[in-house]
Amino acid sequence: MLSISGLKVAYGGIQAVKGVNLEVREGELVTLIGANGAGKTTTMKAITGIKPISGGDIVYRGESIKGVPPHELLKRGLAMVPEGRGIFARMTILENMQMGAYLRNDSDGIQKDVERMFGFFPRLKERASQLAGTLSGGEQQMLAMARAIISRPKLLLLDEPSMGLSPIMVEKIFEVVREISKEGLTVLLVEQNAKLALQAATRGYVMDSGTITMSGEAKQMLDDPKVRAAYLGE
Ligand code: ATP
Repeated sequence: MLSISGLKVAYGGIQAVKGVNLEVREGELVTLIGANGAGKTTTMKAITGIKPISGGDIVYRGESIKGVPPHELLKRGLAMVPEGRGIFARMTILENMQMGAYLRNDSDGIQKDVERMFGFFPRLKERASQLAGTLSGGEQQMLAMARAIISRPKLLLLDEPSMGLSPIMVEKIFEVVREISKEGLTVLLVEQNAKLALQAATRGYVMDSGTITMSGEAKQMLDDPKVRAAYLGE
């Protein structure tokens, strides 16, 4: 589904991503974990065309997407929930969710998906006509995820969905991540919360100072003493 090879990204003279290789196969939930400043968000931005790359290639469904802008990627089924969420503050919750479906024209299907998301996140349903800008951080995260899922992506990129959320909200968000993955959606998840991410994922990658330092089956990584010491706080 997604194959990244030798990816390099720089900010001015500083290399933030230094030759990353990463693979996401159809149906997988792959997580990219690592410390602050490791280059995870930069990698996500490179995939979605927000940040130009200085080397390597990114192949999505058999085609290079180097330099392809975000709106074109969305048309091809690659959706991203960015860090900071990017919801439309002056629109209501319902309007935000409907925006997620702007490339679809099956109104019955859209309505069903909106209801499904309201099922996942009853809090959004209670507030459907409220302006999105007035939502709490956790509620905005739920809305951003709902909107992305409603676009019916083939590949969903999630950038630190747990950031700034209370433990209960984090649990809720991960419940939905696990559920959509079980339903067959392919997901690439960037997370600081390594434990939750590895528990949900099929495979994982560890990033440190711009390079991938470890990768493998998520279950094995959870048991790996090095991962436990460095990233699980044990
Ligand atoms: P975090 O978990 O803290 O978000 P991250 O792994 O996502 O970290 P990035 O945000 O990708 O890390 O940052 C990687 C490196 O690139 C850091 O050293 C950061 O300071 C640098 N960087 C990020 N954005 C910019 C920018 N716009 N200009 C200059 N340097 C940047």
